[in-house]
Order: sequence, then structure tokens, then C-alpha cells
Amino acid sequence: MNRNTLFDVVVIGAGASATAFITSFYTLHKSSKTPIKIAVVDKKENVGCGEIYKEDFSWLLMNTPTENLSAQIGCHNDFERWAKKNAPTNYKNARFVPRHLFGSYLKNKFLFVQKKAAKNNLLIMLIDDAVQKVDADANAYYATLHLTSGGKITAKFVVFATGPGVPIDAYQLQGAQNYLHQPFPACVKLQLIPKEAKVGILGTSLTAIDVAISLKHLNHQGKIVMLSKHGRLPQVKGFDLDPIPPGNVSFENYKKMAIKNGGYLNLKLLLKPIRKHLILHGHDWRSCFFNKELQPDNSCVLGKKIQDAEKGKTLFNLILGLIPEVNKAWRLILKDQLDYFMKYFFKGVNQKHGAMPLVNAKKIQSLLVSRQLEIKSGVQAIKQAGDKFEIKLSNDITERYDFIVNASGLARMVCGKIIKIPYLDLCHNNKISELTTGGIFVDTPSGRIMNKNGKFDTRLRAIGHVAEGSHPFTNNFDWIVYSGYEVAQAILNEIFN
Ligand SMILES: Cc1cc2nc3c(=O)[nH]c(=O)nc-3n(C[C@H](O)[C@H](O)[C@H](O)COP(=O)(O)OP(=O)(O)OC[C@H]3O[C@@H](n4cnc5c(N)ncnc54)[C@H](O)[C@@H]3O)c2cc1C
Repeated sequence: MNRNTLFDVVVIGAGASATAFITSFYTLHKSSKTPIKIAVVDKKENVGCGEIYKEDFSWLLMNTPTENLSAQIGCHNDFERWAKKNAPTNYKNARFVPRHLFGSYLKNKFLFVQKKAAKNNLLIMLIDDAVQKVDADANAYYATLHLTSGGKITAKFVVFATGPGVPIDAYQLQGAQNYLHQPFPACVKLQLIPKEAKVGILGTSLTAIDVAISLKHLNHQGKIVMLSKHGRLPQVKGFDLDPIPPGNVSFENYKKMAIKNGGYLNLKLLLKPIRKHLILHGHDWRSCFFNKELQPDNSCVLGKKIQDAEKGKTLFNLILGLIPEVNKAWRLILKDQLDYFMKYFFKGVNQKHGAMPLVNAKKIQSLLVSRQLEIKSGVQAIKQAGDKFEIKLSNDITERYDFIVNASGLARMVCGKIIKIPYLDLCHNNKISELTTGGIFVDTPSGRIMNKNGKFDTRLRAIGHVAEGSHPFTNNFDWIVYSGYEVAQAILNEIFN
């Protein structure tokens, strides 16, 4: 294959965002006679499903219910229908399915669309490679992409769909013996942990829960400790997964408030109707936005969360109802105010929104009750000591661990301390502007990337988590699909005009 080819569009990454994008692109282009060439660059095994939804243990579940997952805009139950036909019997009607099953659906969708598109003047070429560097010279009409293999491709439009980020290395442990910087695929990585080892899991959120649950399934015998700043587990999703209607927290109201305020919102204005809404439903806004407990969670606290979730709606359902409205209003908020929100409120809100399915909560609870699992807060420092680790906690106690698994979250900045491939040149040349807490600043609905001078580059687009998908008021999958659709539509309009 001659890779020195000119493509209309090159998509970097072939995960869920790319699948949603090409699905929309194909649908929107279907009735056109204009031939279009798209290249999608990624590792072969990631095609359609990306990193997250690859083959792995079946107990690693989606945390979004089946009925809310679809890669096709306007076809809300696409995955549910697919699962009813294609999933093994025990998952046909399951509300939370294994991640790899969702990955199979995405793969299938990608390949199906690719095949259909070929018959409709739309060539979608898969390139099994990685993009190392993107040249987007201001004077050049096309962008040039340099591949790891040494090849080059050129494109009128480059769509970054590189996913949510790389794991944070807060304690500079990467490369250390008996340390896993990234636990997935768990079926490969977690099998390496000796059964009797005392394991420290850095983090108490969804990835940490996946690690603890996997160790339980793998019949781990040693002590497991989850460690984080506050020691807070996420909320629990119960049987009732419906959102509570948002009342006066509406985009229309926010728009009116912004007009009165000179065209933008500050945090005070954003929070005003939210506070009233929370009070109306019996919640103090502080309990929603802050992690106010001083002690780390334990089996009593989780037991109460499980009970509340089994009884009915919780803060999770409240936040779920607010998400679509606040998400739309997010663009009306000043950048420095967004940064403030992300710095002080993100964790609190995310802990409610990123709730864990009941089935996972019960597994964690059984580990806590048996005392095999403990949750600790206030990690001050981690030091390697031979083949072990010493963890210093805030009460001046130092504990020794045999094995550490990092589940402390992802670095969302693409131009942060460690600049991610393929953003190096673009970051150095000030071609990317980001929120300080991560997420490329893009124009909606076109997905154009904003540079450091506040100008949008027509050639460069970003979709999914890498494009502002970091704030807590996005409902991950809906947003991925919607932004993919919008950007596909904008690019097609620009090609046709
Ligand atoms: C453990 C975990 C569980 C999650 N569970 C859920 C869930 O249940 N529901 C939900 O809605 N969201 C969930 N998410 C969020 C999830 O990240 C998104 O839903 C989705 O996977 C994001 O899709 P993506 O295409 O943006 O990113 P990814 O799936 O990460 O795909 C990005 C792709 O880009 C490729 N890539 C990166 N750099 C390059 C390069 N330089 N050249 C070529 N290719 C490149 C990568 O190889 C990868 O395949 C979860 C996230 C994690 C980490």
C-alpha cells in the first residue's frame, strides 16, 4: 500500500469515538455521489473497540446500563438489540454487560460500516500503525501525519480520537519491579500478582474497584488495601437507573441568565439553580460537591450506600438528570471558572456520577466484611524498598506492601508535563489550547481545535474524551456519539461546499 496518499479525513485512534464518528459519517454521506477517502490509524487489535473494551475478564462490567449504549445516533437501543441477538444467553438481557461484549459490538459496527461504505463511494481504510507526529503548518493546505513505521500520509482534515488519557504516575513508580502502572488487560496483568502478596491499589474509584474484584475472582489470598487521598468509594447504582427530571436546571434558563450577564456564566450563576434543585430533593449541595467525610469509607458506609441504592433514587439519579442540561451550558462558562470547578468540585460530582453497579458494590462489600480488603486515606509518599514498597500515611504510619497496582486515574492533559504522542509538535507550536485540568478546547459543533491565540484550525478536529470530554457533566457515551455526529456533519458540509 502506498501510504503517501492524500485522504480527505484521517482519524487518529479507532476506539469508540472513531466508531461513532465513522458510523455518522457513513449515514450522512450515504446518498451522496461524491467519493470520499478516510483513513483510520490504530493498532489492528483496537479497531472498533479501542483500549478499554478489548478482550478481558467477563466480570469487568460496563458501568453504563445496556439500554443507554449505542454507537448510532438516533438509534438509542442499537446495542441492546445487538446483544439480544449476539450475546451469550446469560448476557442477553443483562443490564450491565462485560466490557469486552460491548467491544465486540463496536468492532462489529466498525467493520459493518466500513463494508457498507465501500459500496457507497466512501472508502474507509484501516492503517495498522500509530501516528507519531502531525505537521499542521499554517501555510499548508493539508496536514501531514508521520507514522511510527516511517510512512507519511496527508489529509485535509485530521480527527483526533485518541481517548481519555494515560495513567498518572504521581509517585514516579513507573518501571519499578512489582508495580503495575496500568491494570488492563487484567487477564494479562493481574495474573502476574503472587496470590499471597499484600497488594496496595492506588485509587478508590471505578478502576480500583475493577482491580479488587478481579483479585477476588482470581482467588487472591493476601491482604488488599485501596489507598487514596480521601478513601471515598463511588456511589452505588441501584435498580432504579432513571434520571430525576432537572426542573429549573435547564439550558434555556442558563441561556437567559448568560444573556443578562453579558453572554457568559460564572460558577455562582451555574450553581444557583442546582443548589435549589438539590434542596428540593432533600440534599445539601455541599454533600454533592464536596468530599466532606474525614474518615475513609468502610463496610458500614458502603452498606448504607447499597441500602439507599436498593431503596430508590439517590444523588446519582439527581446528577444524571442534570447532566444533559449542564453539559450544554458548559460552553457558556468562562474558562477560568471551569478550571476552578474542575479543581475543587470535579471529584465530588464525579464520585456521584461515576457510580458503580450494585453487583460490583456487593462484591466490594463482601471483601470489606471479610477484612481481606481495607480502604485507607491520606497517602503522603511511596518509596521503593528492595522489591517491596513503603507507603507513608498522614498519621505518620509507614506500611510495607509487596505489590502496587496503579488505579489512580488518567492524566487528561495532552500538553501536560509528559506530552502525549502524537501531540508533541502541536503542543510545542502552541497549536493546542486546553482547559488546565485537561481536554482540548474545541469549537462546537465543528470540533475545530483552538490554538493558543484563540483561533480555530479548520484542518484539526477532536472528538470524544480528548476534546473537553473531561468534565463531570458529560454522560460519556451519549456525548461521544453526539460529538462524533456533529463533527462528521461539519466536515461533510465543508467538503461539499
Ligand atoms: C476502565 C474504564 C472503564 C470505562 N467504562 C466506561 C463505561 O462503562 N461507559 C462509558 O460510557 N465509558 C466508560 N469509560 C470511558 C471510556 O474511555 C469511553 O467510553 C471510551 O472508551 C472512549 O473511547 P475513545 O475512542 O475516545 O477512546 P479509546 O477507547 O481509548 O480509544 C482511543 C484509541 O486511540 C488509539 N491511539 C491513541 N494514540 C494513538 C496514536 N498516536 N496513533 C494511533 N492511534 C492512537 C488507542 O490505541 C486507542 O485504541 C471507561 C474508561 C475506562 C478507563
